[in-house]
Amino acid sequence: MAEQPINPTDAHGSAGVPPPSSDPTSSGPKKSSVGIHGIIESARYSMGEMGPKRSLQTLLTVNQVGGFDCPSCAWGEPDPDHRKIAEFCENGAKAVAWEATRKRVDAAFFAEHSVAALRERDGRWLESQGRLAQPMHLAPGATHYAPIPWEGALALTADRLRGLADPSRAVFYTSGRTSNEAAFLYQLLARRLGTNNLPDCSNMCHESSGAALSETIGVGKGLIALSDITDHADLIIVVGQNPGTCHPRMLTALEQAKRRGARIIAANPLPEAGFGRFHNPQTARGLVGPGTKLADR
Ligand code: SF4
Repeated sequence: MAEQPINPTDAHGSAGVPPPSSDPTSSGPKKSSVGIHGIIESARYSMGEMGPKRSLQTLLTVNQVGGFDCPSCAWGEPDPDHRKIAEFCENGAKAVAWEATRKRVDAAFFAEHSVAALRERDGRWLESQGRLAQPMHLAPGATHYAPIPWEGALALTADRLRGLADPSRAVFYTSGRTSNEAAFLYQLLARRLGTNNLPDCSNMCHESSGAALSETIGVGKGLIALSDITDHADLIIVVGQNPGTCHPRMLTALEQAKRRGARIIAANPLPEAGFGRFHNPQTARGLVGPGTKLADR
C-alpha cells in the first residue's frame, strides 16, 4: 500500500496548539503574569485535548487529597485543609491535558507510518499525535510497528529479563512526565529484579543541582517545607530561577509570604513577569484588582 503523505495539520490543527507560523510576532517584555489569561489558556488547552467531561474529572482531582500528583513540575502541595478547588496552574493543566488527551495512536497509525517516516518527524509533531492505544512491536527486519497483545508484550519482556546474566544489564528508562504513581510501581519492579538502573530525562535537569547541593549542604534535595515560605521566612532570595515558568504555583506561595510582610529579592539574567506583578486568578485582587508586586529588588 503506497505510503499516505503525512498531513502536517492533522494534529491539534483544530483545537490545541496552533501549528508553528512562518512569521513569529514579538512584543515588549510582559510586566505581569497569569490573571484571566491563565484561566483562558488552561481552559483552551484542556477542552482542546480532553473535552469538557474529562477536563472536569482530571482538573478537579489533580493535586487533591485522594487525587493524583500533577505530572509536571512537582511543586509541593499545601496542607490538605489549605487546598483550593483548582489546585493547579496553567502548566499543570497543560501537562494533565497532554497525559489525558483523547487522541490515540493505534495500529492503523503505525500501519500508515513506517519507522523511517516517523524518524523524519519532529518531537512536537510526534507528541501531538496522541497516546499509544495498545502495545506495539517492531519485529526484527520489519519497517512498521505492529500490534501485539499485552500477554505477548509482557512475555517478550519477561523472557528478555529472565535471560539476562545480571539484572543490571537492563535499563528501566522513563519519561520525567510519567506520573508519580506509575513511576513508583515501575521502580518497585526494577528493584525487585535487583537493579536500580532507572535513568529518566529529569536526571539531566536535576543531577547537577543534586550533586552541587550534596557537596554544599550535604543533602541533594530541598530541606524546607512549603510553610517555611508561606508562613515563616522574612526574606526570600530567588537566584537564577523563574517561578512563573518553572513552578507557577510558587507565585501563590510568594504572594502569601509577601502579604505577610516578607521581602523578596530576585537575582536573574532577565526581569521575569512573574516577579513583576502576579495576578492570582484565585483571588479578586488578582483577577480584577492590581495583583501583587512580588520582588522588592
Ligand atoms: S506548579 Fe503547576 S506544573 Fe507545577 S506541579 Fe503545580 S500544578 Fe503542576
